[in-house]
Amino acid sequence: MTQDCLFCRIYRGEIPSDILYHDDLAFAIRDIAPRAPVHLLVIPTRHFVLADDLDASSEALVGHLFTVGREMARREGIATSGYRLAMNQGDHAGQTVDHLHVHVIGGRPLGREG
Ligand code: AMP
Ligand code: ZN
Repeated sequence: MTQDCLFCRIYRGEIPSDILYHDDLAFAIRDIAPRAPVHLLVIPTRHFVLADDLDASSEALVGHLFTVGREMARREGIATSGYRLAMNQGDHAGQTVDHLHVHVIGGRPLGREG
């Protein structure tokens, strides 16, 4: 399952991608189809599909994803203007890659969604 997972493949270097940030728990890349001037993805190095798959031992990991998201927003210069941290979960949220990830979106007024 992780063998064919897009984000696991990027993490393993099988699909070329510009890794902007990396540590033991998470890495960050630019979204290939950005919906705003800044659109990054913060991705856990471990394969989870949904928040539903996380357990109590993963609580620190989720916090870390947000810490990395905040740091990437700073680096991209959108920390002050504001940005969105979003995790799509399943069909109705439009999740297209079945590996948990946080979108970091900003650089323009985003309006309200969903
Ligand atoms: P989601 O729709 O929430 O599952 O988000 C998946 C995101 O991954 C989408 O915004 C896609 O544009 C993005 N994406 C798909 N393939 C790649 C890729 N090879 N590199 C970077 N981002 C990708
Ligand atoms: Zn994966």
